[in-house]
Amino acid sequence: METNANVFSNEEITVTYEPRCCANAGICAKQLSDVFRHSVIPWIDLDGAQTKAIINQINKCPSGALKYYLNKKEVA
Ligand code: SF4
Repeated sequence: METNANVFSNEEITVTYEPRCCANAGICAKQLSDVFRHSVIPWIDLDGAQTKAIINQINKCPSGALKYYLNKKEVA
C-alpha cells in the first residue's frame, strides 16, 4: 500500500483523499467502516472490501473529497 499522505493504492485501484474538501459527515466511515476507518493510520484500508464496494462508497461521497481511478482497465 502507498504510504504517501492521502493517496492509497492496491493492485486494482488508487484512492485519493482531499481533506480540505471533506464535509466530515462520516458517511464513508459509517457505511464502509472496514475501509474508511476512524483513528487508524492509514485511515483508508483498501484491503477491507471488494474494489466494487469501495467504488460504490466513493461515489456516495457528497463533497468530492474521495476520488479514485482504476490501475487496470477491468475490475474483477
Ligand atoms: S464521505 Fe466524503 S465528505 Fe463524508 S467524511 Fe467521507 S470523505 Fe469526507
